Amino acid sequence: MTTRGNNLIESLIALANDGDKSATSPAATATFTPSELKDFLDAIPGAFFLYRATGDEEILYANRALYRLFHCANPEEFRALTGNTFRGLVHPDDLEAVEESIHEQILSNQDELDYAEYRILTREGELRWVEDYGHFVHTDSGGIFYVFVSDATEKITRRILERETLITEGEAREAHLKGLIEAYDEERKLIRQEHLQRLEVIEGLSINYESILYADLHAGIVLPYRMSSRIEPQFKKKYGVIDFDRFIEHYVETVVYPDDRVFVKEHTSKEYIQSHLSNERTYYFNYRSLENGTVKYLQVRIVNVGDKGGKFVFGCRSVDDEILQEIKSKQILEEALRAAKAADVAKNAFLSNMSHDMRTPLNAIFGFTELLRKHAGNASATKEYLDKIELASEHMLHLIEKVLDFSYLESGEATVSCERCDMDELFEEIHSSVLPLATRKGIDLIFEKDSLRIAYGDREKIKQILLSLLDNAVTYTKAGGTVWFTAKAEGSGEFVTYRMLVKDTGIGISKAQAESIFMPFERVNNTTQSGEYGTGLGLTIAKRLAEMMGGSLSLESEEGKGSSFFVTLCLRRYEEKGREQNTVDLTGKKILLAEDNEINRELQTALLEDAGFTVDTAENGQIALELAERAEPHEYAFILMDIQMPVMDGQTAARAIRRSKNPAVAAIPIIALSANAFESDVRASIESGMDAHLSKPMDIALLLRTVREVLERKNS
Ligand code: ADP
Repeated sequence: MTTRGNNLIESLIALANDGDKSATSPAATATFTPSELKDFLDAIPGAFFLYRATGDEEILYANRALYRLFHCANPEEFRALTGNTFRGLVHPDDLEAVEESIHEQILSNQDELDYAEYRILTREGELRWVEDYGHFVHTDSGGIFYVFVSDATEKITRRILERETLITEGEAREAHLKGLIEAYDEERKLIRQEHLQRLEVIEGLSINYESILYADLHAGIVLPYRMSSRIEPQFKKKYGVIDFDRFIEHYVETVVYPDDRVFVKEHTSKEYIQSHLSNERTYYFNYRSLENGTVKYLQVRIVNVGDKGGKFVFGCRSVDDEILQEIKSKQILEEALRAAKAADVAKNAFLSNMSHDMRTPLNAIFGFTELLRKHAGNASATKEYLDKIELASEHMLHLIEKVLDFSYLESGEATVSCERCDMDELFEEIHSSVLPLATRKGIDLIFEKDSLRIAYGDREKIKQILLSLLDNAVTYTKAGGTVWFTAKAEGSGEFVTYRMLVKDTGIGISKAQAESIFMPFERVNNTTQSGEYGTGLGLTIAKRLAEMMGGSLSLESEEGKGSSFFVTLCLRRYEEKGREQNTVDLTGKKILLAEDNEINRELQTALLEDAGFTVDTAENGQIALELAERAEPHEYAFILMDIQMPVMDGQTAARAIRRSKNPAVAAIPIIALSANAFESDVRASIESGMDAHLSKPMDIALLLRTVREVLERKNS
C-alpha cells in the first residue's frame, strides 16, 4: 500500500466518523487521484467489478482480486478468458437463470440490490462457485452494476452435497415407506381375500342352517348373522344385539313345542353350554317347534368359537325330513322285525303242529292196519278199521297237498291256465263233493246260484279256493248249523264278474285273528286245541290263488256268530262254437295202465276194473310203448301213464307213441297219472303229447270226466 493509499484509508475513517456532517468536514474535501483509488481497490482482498447493464454487459472496471479469482495474472489474460463481459464471466449453463434472477431482484427491491450464486471457469478450466452481491446504479451513460464477488466454492459445494445427501436419504426413506405401504396393501389384499374365502366357506358350510347367531356369554349378548322367520321376531332391530337370557326366554316361550321347553331351556343355559363345551368344540340337540299348529323338528348346533370360551355360534336347521324319514325307517324296520318274528313264530308253530298233525293220521293208519291184521275175520271190525284208515289217509293227503301247494305258490312258478270252464258244472261238482261231509256232520248246506254260464278260467284253482272255504265252513260249524254257498254272475259284455259267498253260522273269527288269518301258517287254534286237522295254509293259498287270477278273497266275521268269505273273480265269457253233444260211452272199454309201483298198479287196476274197464298193465314206459304198437287199432280207449318209471319214463313214452308211424297208435289218448301235481308237471305232460294230467291218488270220478272230455275233444 502506498502512502496515498494510507491517505485514502485515513480519509475514509474520517468520513465515517463525521457522518452527515461530511459536507462541512475538512476531510470531505479530500480528493484522490485515480491511481490512488485503483491502488486502493487492487489492495482490497475481495473481488470487485463494474459492468454495463446493457449491451454486451461489458466490464468497465475489475480489481486484481477478480483476476485472481479466475487465476489470471493480468487484465489481458482475463479479457482473453471472459471477453471482459459479465456474460463471459458467468458459466454459460448458469447465465440465463442468473440474469433473470438479478433482473427480478432489482425490480422488486427498492435498494436495487441483488444476490446471485453461479459458477465460473478459471483459466485452467476449473469450476468454482461464487457469490455475487450486486447493486444497480443509474448513471448518465446508462445503468451500471457494481458487484462484489467472492469464492464460495467450498460453502456451496458443501451445501449442494448436503442437499444431495438429504435428497438421497429422503428418497431412500420414501422408497422404504413406499415398500412398506405396498407390502401392507398386499397383505391387506391377501387378508381380505382370505376373509372373503372364509366367509364363503362359512356360507357354504352353513347353507343348511336357517339361522345363525353369535353369542358372547361373558357379555351376555347375542346377535344374529342369519335369521329364519322364527328368529326374526325375537330381534326388535334387524341384526341388532340383544340380551342372551331374554332372547332364550322369549324364543322358548314363542317357538318351542310346550313339551320340549324345559329341555331346550336346560340345554341352552349358560352353565350347561359352558360345562359342555369346556372340553368339546361343539354339540347339538333336537327339539320340536310348534308352527301354525304343526310340529316341526329342529336341530340346534352350538360351536365354541372363542379361545377362552364364552363365545359361541348357534346354528339352527330343520331336521323335519330326516327325523320323519328316520321315524318311518324305524317303523318299517320295527314292522319288518315284527313280521319276521311273527313269521318265525308261525313257522315254528307250524312245524311243531305239522309234525303232530302228520303223526296223528300216520299213527292211526299204522294202528288200524295192525288191528285189521288181528281181526281180519271180523267183517264189521274190518269195515270200521278200513273207514278209519281211509279217513286218516285223507287227512294225510290233505296236509301234504296243502304244503306242496303252498311251496309251489311260494316258488313263483305257478301260472294260471285259461281253459273252457263250465261254471255251472263246476259249482255242481263242488256242491256234490261238500254235501256228504256236511250231511255227515249234521250241517244244513244251502246252495244258491244264478245261471253261471261258461267262461275261460283256471277250473282247478277256482275249485280249490271254493272247496277250501267250504271245507273250513263245515269244519268250524257245529252240528245243526248252516253253511251257505251262493254264486252270482254279473255283466253281459266280454267279461263276467262272479261273486261267490261262503257263509256259515260257525264259531266265527275275532277281529285280531281276522287280520292275520291270510298269513301263512296262521291258525286260530292248533289241531289239539281245535280238534281239527289243519295247516293254517288253506286260506293263504286260497287268497293267493284268487289274486293270481286277478280276483280277491275277503272276510267278514263275528266271533261266535259265524263267518262270511267273499270271492270275486272276473273271467272272460266263453264263446260257444256249436259243439255237437257226444256223450262218450266208456263201458267195457279196454285201457292200458303204465305204472311201475306194484301196489299202486294193483290198487289202480282194481279201481278201474270196478269202474267197468278191462285193464292191461305195463311196468314201465318201454313196455307200454310196445303194447301200444302191437295193439289193434282202437283196442285201447286210452293209456293211463305214470311219469316216474324205470327204463323209460312216461313223458318219453308219450313222445314215442305220438311219433308212431301207425296213425291209430299215434292218436291214442294218453292221460298222465302222477304223484307230481305242480303246474310245471302238468305243462311238461301236455308238452310231451299227453292229453291231460291227473294227480295221484286216483279219483275215479275225475278220471272218467277227464277221459270223456279228452275223447270228446278228439272226436270233435
Ligand atoms: P287250516 O288248514 O288250519 O284250516 P286255513 O288257512 O284254512 O288252515 O284256516 C286257518 C284258520 O282260520 C283255521 O285254523 C281256523 O282257525 C280259522 N278258520 C278258517 N275258516 C274258518 C271259519 N269258516 N270259521 C271259523 N274259523 C275259521
